[in-house]
Amino acid sequence: MEERRGIRTPNSANYGAMGQPFEPNYLMPPDSERAPLLPGLSYYPDEAMTSAAMNPAMAPAMISEGAPLSNPAVVTDGPTAPPSDWATIPGYEGMGSDGDKFLPPPQPGPIPDTVPTPANTSWIIPSISEDDARNALMKYANNKCCYGSSPAEEMDFHELRPFNTYRYRLETLTESRTCKWVTVPHTATGQPVDSLFCGIPPQPWDIPIQIPVMFKDEEMKMPVPHTSSLKSCPQCLGICRTVCRECHGTGRVRCWVCNGTGRQFNDRCHRCTGQGTASCTTCNSSRYERCAGCSGRGQILNYIELTVTWKNNIYEFVAEHNSEFPTELFKKVSGEKIYMDEQMLLSPLVNFPAQSINQASQNALQQHHAQFSSTSRMIRQRHSIEWLPLTKVEYMWRRNRYDYFVYGKENEVYTDNYPQKCCCVIM
Ligand SMILES: [Zn+2]
Ligand SMILES: [Zn+2]
Ligand SMILES: [Zn+2]
Repeated sequence: MEERRGIRTPNSANYGAMGQPFEPNYLMPPDSERAPLLPGLSYYPDEAMTSAAMNPAMAPAMISEGAPLSNPAVVTDGPTAPPSDWATIPGYEGMGSDGDKFLPPPQPGPIPDTVPTPANTSWIIPSISEDDARNALMKYANNKCCYGSSPAEEMDFHELRPFNTYRYRLETLTESRTCKWVTVPHTATGQPVDSLFCGIPPQPWDIPIQIPVMFKDEEMKMPVPHTSSLKSCPQCLGICRTVCRECHGTGRVRCWVCNGTGRQFNDRCHRCTGQGTASCTTCNSSRYERCAGCSGRGQILNYIELTVTWKNNIYEFVAEHNSEFPTELFKKVSGEKIYMDEQMLLSPLVNFPAQSINQASQNALQQHHAQFSSTSRMIRQRHSIEWLPLTKVEYMWRRNRYDYFVYGKENEVYTDNYPQKCCCVIM
């Protein structure tokens, strides 16, 4: 499909599929009180309708008896388009209304050089006490509806082995901007329109926008200044009303009791007294309804809508703990924050005692930079290291050996061999 700048064939269910630019004078009758559209006729023939619309003789065939009660006379997907001379507003070229146009951000800087992490090498590696370990297991057993608590009460500790580890987390807040033409009813009648005559539209990335919340997903939409234009509504051609879709402008609809036959059980239909039709309740038999395209105002507003999206992208890495504990369970718990930094663009950590954390920091920053720097603006980054408590508890209960893990600051328990999984069984 050939696609000229700013002009596309209509294919959107919304307003605003980029059809032929609307010319207010085209097809407009000289007097304001124009004749209502006839059923089957369209002022905006689409491909399927062209022949019928151009040849009124063919039109009735399109709404023949038994045809679904739709009204081809009413254009619900009204073709609207920005004025054709607007297709090349600097910074917004080639934009349609059937999808957001991606606006490439200004080039970001490179990742800053590495700077040493503030020295903090006296790591105290605590382990939990037997009391903590017992309480954690009690809580675990009590939270499982069927588990008995005897093992937790009666167990003999064999060994408490620390497998504590670290979690590195990088957060990068990105901002992306897209835009598209939108069409809305012009409800603020009498209000000045912020058009090209009011000034030159700013470049998409030059529009100053306050970041609502740091490190949180948000979205905001706004009109690009000086891109609005007012047009006569293409759906109703400015007369604020359209032919009723229910009755096709006849004021009457098929009786639903007798389905238009006028008969009911070999008798005259009691609802329509044999006429087969009833008054249209949608338009109260007025044959018209308020134009949906302009909310009955007769005018529509066209403008470029800018969508700003903030996304907090997270990279997480948990250092190897050399135990059979399932690492993904750490996602549910918190650790002790031992390091935190926040910058426009961070530099990787280099001298943290656990080398895999330094490596993760480098990988994370490189990955985020590669992933986001060309598609969005990197607003801010922060990274942290958490110490994640993890203790393996081995214990004896009724001459058998069992074990479980206590993890996270919340002292959560993980075990796959709890001995009393059903409290009703006497062991
Ligand atoms: Zn309208
Ligand atoms: Zn009837
Ligand atoms: Zn009606």
